[in-house]
Amino acid sequence: MKNIVLLGSTGSIGTQTLDVVRNHLDEYNIVALSCKSSIDILEKQIREFLPQAVAVHDEQQALELRKKLTGLNVEVLWGLEGLTDLTKLNKIDLVVNAIVGIAGLIPTMSAIQEKKDIALANKETLVTAGKIVMEQAKKNNVKILPIDSEHNAIFQCLLGNNLKDVNKVILTASGGPFRGYDKSMLGNITVSEALNHPKWSMGKKITIDSATLMNKGLEVIEAKWLFNLDIEQIEVIIHPESIIHSMVEYKDGSVIAQMANTDMRIPIHHAIHYPYRVANSFKKLDLIEVSKLTFEKPDYYTFPCLNLAYEALRIGGSMPTVLNAANEVAVEMFLNKTIGFYDIPKLIEIALDQHQVQYDLNIHDIIEIDNLVRDLVYKTIT
Ligand code: NAD
Ligand code: MG
Repeated sequence: MKNIVLLGSTGSIGTQTLDVVRNHLDEYNIVALSCKSSIDILEKQIREFLPQAVAVHDEQQALELRKKLTGLNVEVLWGLEGLTDLTKLNKIDLVVNAIVGIAGLIPTMSAIQEKKDIALANKETLVTAGKIVMEQAKKNNVKILPIDSEHNAIFQCLLGNNLKDVNKVILTASGGPFRGYDKSMLGNITVSEALNHPKWSMGKKITIDSATLMNKGLEVIEAKWLFNLDIEQIEVIIHPESIIHSMVEYKDGSVIAQMANTDMRIPIHHAIHYPYRVANSFKKLDLIEVSKLTFEKPDYYTFPCLNLAYEALRIGGSMPTVLNAANEVAVEMFLNKTIGFYDIPKLIEIALDQHQVQYDLNIHDIIEIDNLVRDLVYKTIT
């Protein structure tokens, strides 16, 4: 039996991870679950998977949940301490981090210190602190197995090959709901239009990131740290069918691609079973049904977030942390209808421009910069 801690179990990746586990109950044991505030969903998950411990965001929710669970033998923790305590439980084989945002960073670091392998969906961990996370993972002999479909694809395309033979990686992007639009058409788009992703059903934050193409920008940074690449080795192309999840071009001219249906359970299944290939019942790819695969250049002018991410990565140091913090706040404001679609890149650009870049950061510095940038973006608007 493999013992799994699942952080962010009530979200899109979290519930799909439980779906994968549900199909392999003879192999996996869920020892802990967590969420921010969806305690009704969490309660159902607890009754089904009977974990030892769970964590929620605040004390009030913990008390409420404890009351609901009277008679069940499960420890209910709360706050950041509760979350990190889950990574310290005995006999854990894998921590699946499906939290959204920089909130996932400290739990990732804690799992690394505890020498627990991590299946990582939380890309913001690597965007904000990729250098430290990868260094510490190496030092502690911890595997970081990517769940993000593009990175899971690259991980698979690299198997059996040598990183020094890689020319470049090609990250594919669906293009989001506004592919083919020009700037004048996007000024007044609504939240529900932006949430209407053509290919994937995901949490709200990443769905907006996909509409602005910031998601691909964050993924460029994620790829840099996961696979130790130079920025020039990371290319983005639009592939609307989302069948090729990414590719690796080798120096001999061979390009290896990973293909699968647009079902996040496939990369989740791969990451949690790695290094084994295990059968599942998910619908298999039918290339005749897909019929054709097409590719386009990204429209950097209409979707400025992608270049902002490349720029932040090029400067390096604290810039990707600033990019991420400003984006998290701007997306939240867009979802609350406080700002418009194009205010998202505008606010990020202001935050990057105002920031004095810092190098040689530790995790404490990164959290502090994140907080400062959040305040600054709120103040820019109010
Ligand atoms: P989601 O919003 O659906 O779920 C997020 C989960 O994190 C929930 O369980 C929520 O309760 C918890 N959470 C939120 N804020 C928290 C906080 N401050 N502290 C503790 N827990 C908190 O998000 P999602 O779409 O599942 O995405 C999760 C991560 O996976 C993101 O980093 C996203 O970029 C990445 N990802 C998602 C997909 C997808 O298909 N959804 C694909 C690739 C990568
Ligand atoms: Mg992705």
